[in-house]
Amino acid sequence: MAQATVSQTRKGYVDRRALGEEMAALGCVRQAGDGRYVVLSPGSGNAYQVTCHPWGSWECTCPDRRYRNAFCKHMWAVKHYRGEGEDYFEPEEEGGEETKGDPWARLR
Ligand SMILES: [Zn+2]
Repeated sequence: MAQATVSQTRKGYVDRRALGEEMAALGCVRQAGDGRYVVLSPGSGNAYQVTCHPWGSWECTCPDRRYRNAFCKHMWAVKHYRGEGEDYFEPEEEGGEETKGDPWARLR
């Protein structure tokens, strides 16, 4: 049960990151001010406001962020837009060894 939750969360990171990269590549990110961005969801046509505070915390107006507190695909899109797509959660990725080396498995 707990294991399934963890792997879903990990998968969520990867999916959001890939989606964000795609959105950035599609030009869905617009800078709206200092540390403020508007990100368009190509699927739904919704636009969300992403704020990147100088002290390193992130905000997004989408439900994924507000209700699930996820690092959502819009924030990922901004990360990629800013050329920072590789430096977040990097220690957990380990070159795509998803099925095998789950670091959480060592934690009982
Ligand atoms: Zn979002």
